[in-house]
Amino acid sequence: MSRSAHPAGPRHADVLPEGHYTAPATDLNVLDEKVWSRTVTRDANGALTVGGIEVARLAEEFGTPAYFLDESDFRARCRAWADAFGPGADVFYAGKAFLSRAVVRWLQEEGLNLDVCSGGELTTALDAGMPAERIAFHGNNKTVAEIERAVEAGVGRIVLDSFQEIVRVAHIAQSRGLRQRVQIRVTVGVEAHTHEFIATAHEDQKFGIALAGGQAAEAVRRALTLDGLELIGIHSHIGSQIFDMAGFEVSARRVVQLLAEVRDEHGVELPEIDLGGGLGIAYTSEDDPREPHEIAKALTDIVTRECESANLSTPRISVEPGRAIVGPTAFTLYEVGTIKPLEGLRTYVSVDGGMSDNIRTALYDAEYSVALVSRSSDAEPMLVRVVGKHCESGDIVVKDAFLPADLAPGDLIAVPATGAYCRSMASNYNHALRPPVVAVRDGEARVIVRRETEEDLLRLDVG
Ligand SMILES: *Cc1c(COP(=O)(O)O)cnc(C)c1O
Repeated sequence: MSRSAHPAGPRHADVLPEGHYTAPATDLNVLDEKVWSRTVTRDANGALTVGGIEVARLAEEFGTPAYFLDESDFRARCRAWADAFGPGADVFYAGKAFLSRAVVRWLQEEGLNLDVCSGGELTTALDAGMPAERIAFHGNNKTVAEIERAVEAGVGRIVLDSFQEIVRVAHIAQSRGLRQRVQIRVTVGVEAHTHEFIATAHEDQKFGIALAGGQAAEAVRRALTLDGLELIGIHSHIGSQIFDMAGFEVSARRVVQLLAEVRDEHGVELPEIDLGGGLGIAYTSEDDPREPHEIAKALTDIVTRECESANLSTPRISVEPGRAIVGPTAFTLYEVGTIKPLEGLRTYVSVDGGMSDNIRTALYDAEYSVALVSRSSDAEPMLVRVVGKHCESGDIVVKDAFLPADLAPGDLIAVPATGAYCRSMASNYNHALRPPVVAVRDGEARVIVRRETEEDLLRLDVG
């Protein structure tokens, strides 16, 4: 999401600067394959199809709004990450991006591991049969009950996030006669987003234990003395939607430096280093994400080089992509309800969902693309803002985009790249019914998370 280069100009302009919002040179009917999942295409009539099924048929069968997830694309992305890093490294899918039992089964079949960060995510993973040793448990405030369940289930690693948690996990494991494999999450003084990273001396954030001031070294010291813990490595996660590898370079260098200090002080070489997730995807045509093999090579080279210069043997690397796997695999399908042209401003297009199924625009000022998908159109492009049906003027799905000027109520429009952090962050605001997730593959569509019903709402309301 390159802000400065966005073709639609200033992001907060309420009044359009003259000549600033120029229509795209490309044909609006052409789908940019960067932002759409792999099996998405337009058929001879101009209607969008995914996995061989036309969207109008999907809308009829499953209703709108709904998320359609391209299963073969999801699986291909899993394989691309696993192949890129090879058997000498581990790929953990970050379940918080989107998790369901079907997803857990796909991950198992494609050889990936899984990050969870709550009891609910852990339950979903175990229920769908993910072997506990392939699960990593994260979070800055895991409850005692969550830690107990994770330890008893035998999760492969718990990522320790505070001094209190070091003691808590050690105690819980030891009192059961167990030794829990753990990593310590450190904050390396790097924050990376999109095209920049910021290196800071001190971290002002809730996650991890700071390298600065010797905090992380002290955490290692304590963890090494506790019988309930087997310290296997250091973890760092530096941001989200990152395209520039430079932040990882600084982070890896600082983590390796800690490994060298640990070796010097304790005579142990910790065997693992986890570089976290945060790799960027294309939300709009402006974004140019890297392929997994390029990322794997860059990260492996950085760690190898830093270890060589610190005279350490290269640790086993793990990464935790969430968005980069599931993000591009799904789109949200909406039906257009009302269209309000505002003279000299833009046209507001209201859809049957909104901030309850995609909070990212309101929360992060995220950018998305949109396309008319129930048909093609040769009409002129018009500048639109796609908004939801909620009682908030900030209920925006796509802030600035172009759709054909003959757009009409009843048309289907789709927002691509909504696989990550949309359904998983969905809410019931205005008692909206959270949309279903439908997996589409080889001409077949199957609900993997069903649509909420008004009965579901009333069932929770026990007053
Ligand atoms: C959120 C998170 C991830 C995944 O981030 P993406 O941007 O989805 O790749 C990975 N690791 C940790 C520790 C996280 O908190």
